[in-house]
Amino acid sequence: MSTEKGPNFLEEIIAEDIKNGKHQGRVLTRFPPEPNGYLHIGHATSICLNFGLAKQFGGKTNLRFDDTNPEKEETEYVDSIKADIKWLGFEWSNEFYASDYFETLYDYAVKLIEKGLAYVDDSSAEEIAAEKGTPTEPGKESKYRSRSVAENLALFLRMRAGEFKDGEKVLRAKIDMTSPNMLLRDPLMYRIKHVEHHRTGNQWCMYPMYDFAHGQCDSIEQITHSICTLEFEVHRPLYEWFIEKLEIFPSKQYEFARRNLNYTVMSKRKLLQLVNEKHVSGWDDPRMPTVSGLRRRGYTPESIRNFCDLVGIARRENVIDVGLLEYCIREDLNKSADRVMVVMDPVKLIIDNYPEERNEILIGENNPEDLEHKITREIPFCKELFMERDDFMEVPMKKYFRLGPGLMVRLKNAYIIKCESFTKNADGSVVEIHCTYIPESKSGNDTSGMSVKGTIHWVSAKHAVPLELRLYDRLFKVENPQAEDGDFKDYINPKSLEIVSNALAEPSLKNAKTLDKFQFIRKGYFCVDKDSSSEKIIFNRTVSLKDSWSKEQKKNV
Ligand code: ATP
Ligand code: MG
Repeated sequence: MSTEKGPNFLEEIIAEDIKNGKHQGRVLTRFPPEPNGYLHIGHATSICLNFGLAKQFGGKTNLRFDDTNPEKEETEYVDSIKADIKWLGFEWSNEFYASDYFETLYDYAVKLIEKGLAYVDDSSAEEIAAEKGTPTEPGKESKYRSRSVAENLALFLRMRAGEFKDGEKVLRAKIDMTSPNMLLRDPLMYRIKHVEHHRTGNQWCMYPMYDFAHGQCDSIEQITHSICTLEFEVHRPLYEWFIEKLEIFPSKQYEFARRNLNYTVMSKRKLLQLVNEKHVSGWDDPRMPTVSGLRRRGYTPESIRNFCDLVGIARRENVIDVGLLEYCIREDLNKSADRVMVVMDPVKLIIDNYPEERNEILIGENNPEDLEHKITREIPFCKELFMERDDFMEVPMKKYFRLGPGLMVRLKNAYIIKCESFTKNADGSVVEIHCTYIPESKSGNDTSGMSVKGTIHWVSAKHAVPLELRLYDRLFKVENPQAEDGDFKDYINPKSLEIVSNALAEPSLKNAKTLDKFQFIRKGYFCVDKDSSSEKIIFNRTVSLKDSWSKEQKKNV
């Protein structure tokens, strides 16, 4: 797949600004998360975009927590957001909080009151909504709109001093109640909330609205390119109005389309419901589209950055196939993950002509894609092994290249074997498979002159290490759960987690550490889970080996 594209529209804008000497050619972007949840893959695209553009043009990026909604915000989220951005491989220039600027924002509000451009309104939320009008009908001016500057200043001071209850008064910008843009119909600037803030404690009992915080914070930090998602396009005239009337640094807002992924939900509010109602084990459940969930699942920062690059940016909302994300991690792990043998559904395999007491140490190549290092590992081999139950057929079909009575296969890194017989138990399932091996056919030193079509993986019965495997499927049964009738949670896939508790691995996995990644030969990519312990080694399946996505792409060309 080609990743070569021309410059996107943001690159064009920034290049043009630099050429024209705007802001002396300086580029400063910001990533402005609200600390009300963990970052998801949509945020990752925004991070890659903001940090990526700054880097590309020799600029910098600030991390700014947009913490103006005290009820929903927590320090736990701040910490997780910082950890996730670092893990993704980005470094911010400064760490700021909208709450750092509460005093400056207050002064800005006073300035607008003094200019006759803001007023205190005693109307209730319902009255304000009723007077707002509709997109086709003009709104009605509030009866408090004509308050004098002096009265507004005094009331605003008393709002700050905590003299009023929640909802009793608001501060509004005095713009135009007939504007076709509803957001310009005297938008709220401050609302009273007697709520403790995660950083400023009880210092404030009123908080600025998003529209009266975001642009001003951009301006205070002298952000040159403030990049946000498309739903803020209609906010842009208001963003510009405040900056113009306050006569402060002219940051500019640009919009790009939100990135959505199919078979999941992406809003923090919905993800929080999944966590709180225990549909998943936490924000970092490996089925979650969160950065921490993807990390635990076995995704690498490179694979996520590559995904964001491939997705690029657009001006129209679209849904991205989760297959593309899977393609990116498969590509990365194919190059970097060591190969090991794990039998997921074991059945005994006995080599009748192999000496009882003999132990051989065979050599396996860790990663055939890593031509530079060619690292190998030792794999013990003996008379009794385990093989995969579904690599055996009692009555083999035509062209079955695995094992069945009379058939021959190669045991990976070991010998060619021929199946001689098998035993079954009362319920009809196979208990033991007996075979003979060809001593001259040892991998790496094969003088047998024989060739077989199939190779299967195995583990030594005496040395095998038990594993628990967690196999994941999509969290939702439908592509876009929020577009369906009823509650999005009605569409949760009840089979999104399957636990395999009797898998057996070659002993090299005994010392694997949390987040270590492997390819289980013929089975998929797996990663050690944080719940793992020396008594119980637990692996998450990151992704299967099958690449349906790139096949789909080939079909479409
Ligand atoms: P959510 O609706 O998921 O809670 P949000 O927009 O409220 O998202 P913020 O913390 O405000 O979350 O977002 C921080 C930045 O990430 C914003 O600039 C926002 O535009 C961007 N962002 C959020 N979701 C996406 C997405 N799906 N695709 C691209 N950018 C996103
Ligand atoms: Mg938001």
